[in-house]
Amino acid sequence: MTHFSALSLLKNALTGQKNWQAQWPDSQPKSEYDVVIVGAGGHGLGAAHYLAKEHGITNVAVIDKGWLGGGNTGRNTTIIRSNYLYDESAKLYDHAVDLWEGLSQDLNYNVMFSRRGVLMLAHNVHDVQSFQRHIHSNRLNGVDNRWLTPHEAKEFCPPLNISPNARYPVMGGALQMRAGTARHDAVAWGYARSASQRGVDIIQNCPVTAIRRGTDGSVEGVETAKGFIRAKKVAVSAAGHTSVVMDSAGVRMPLESYPLQALVSEPIKPIFPCVVMSNTVHAYISQSDKGELVIGSGTDQYTSYSQRGGLPLIEHTVAAICEIFPIFNRMRMLRKWGGIVDVTPDRSPILGTTPVPGLYVNCGWGTGGFKATPGAAHTLAWTIAKGTPHDINAPFTLDRFRTGRLIDEAAAAAVAH
Ligand SMILES: Cc1cc2nc3c(=O)[nH]c(=O)nc-3n(C[C@H](O)[C@H](O)[C@H](O)COP(=O)(O)OP(=O)(O)OC[C@H]3O[C@@H](n4cnc5c(N)ncnc54)[C@H](O)[C@@H]3O)c2cc1C
Repeated sequence: MTHFSALSLLKNALTGQKNWQAQWPDSQPKSEYDVVIVGAGGHGLGAAHYLAKEHGITNVAVIDKGWLGGGNTGRNTTIIRSNYLYDESAKLYDHAVDLWEGLSQDLNYNVMFSRRGVLMLAHNVHDVQSFQRHIHSNRLNGVDNRWLTPHEAKEFCPPLNISPNARYPVMGGALQMRAGTARHDAVAWGYARSASQRGVDIIQNCPVTAIRRGTDGSVEGVETAKGFIRAKKVAVSAAGHTSVVMDSAGVRMPLESYPLQALVSEPIKPIFPCVVMSNTVHAYISQSDKGELVIGSGTDQYTSYSQRGGLPLIEHTVAAICEIFPIFNRMRMLRKWGGIVDVTPDRSPILGTTPVPGLYVNCGWGTGGFKATPGAAHTLAWTIAKGTPHDINAPFTLDRFRTGRLIDEAAAAAVAH
């Protein structure tokens, strides 16, 4: 079992130091576990937490090639919402929102979930029709979402420019009030601490190089930089790199990996009360508790494993923000970064069993898996523990790419996040 020191965490918080590796002592893996989870992001760590807490399975290792929470979990713009069009998606993401609401209490760790509302702007007739269709569909699924006129939108988010002379005037917006943001690295740390306290081993700096299968075809364990680790069950939750890891088990995944970027401004006093997204000008923005404007960019046009992304996208993003919020024209940007997301052809995740006995997979969350973290982790743990899908993740099979039962949510994501 690994424990991090509360003192070192406090010291690092006070000094602003962000060396997560230093906070979590390196531990040697045991030679055998009941379950090995590849990838210590929010999904993998969360699955370990729920395995231990809800299924009593604690002989578990979560293994990461880097430091915990250092992948997309610690790099995203933290938008949480569940206003998806199709029944399957609405159920999955709303299950996550339900869990977000009690997560700080469940983990006894403040994940700073803030239900400040997500407003999706409509700039043309197509947007208006599409968002109103979403609102009706959401209501049928018990998901809150309502229409705002331009003036109501401005009242809700005062920095918004609703001038009819804008290049893409605001024609209204869809508002989900239960939606919001959370503090991303706190999510990874909260799940990690809870899982560790229940006996789960978290092993950092340990790339999994291959999944080994026995003569009967089932999973035997994983080859890692720290040697072979035997395990009856292996779950791959290695966003951006899933196809590489799964390939070593002989499973070809319908995934492409893309860099996705974000940036933050210099900190300013509280000015931005909600989250705003715009598909048409392609921008999304919120304000962090530190005061930085958190701005999401798009995926690069080409596949890559580089955790950086190209410069032109950032320029387009900043131009889009200035278009909708001219008040931010003279602000300076502090830093930008990138992550690697893996994307399926129908833009919906894959979460469940695989053709290999004992092998499970959670991937394909593309640009929007942070919001799903508790829901994905919860249903992944169920699937690993019982060997069958939970009702909620049952439609998100790998098999749907063979049978054609796709869940084409592409139009539901307002922008890349
Ligand atoms: C810039 C950006 C903005 C985003 N904005 C949003 C947003 O606003 N809202 C939203 O819902 N989603 C957003 N996302 C997407 C979201 O971040 C991801 O979908 C989510 O965090 C995925 O979580 P995860 O735990 O599956 O993956 P990760 O946190 O990426 O964890 C996977 C882990 O696997 C590890 N790994 C990979 N290969 C191996 C290996 N061979 N061996 C061992 N370990 C390995 C990695 O090191 C990594 O730590 C954004 C992503 C980015 C990059």
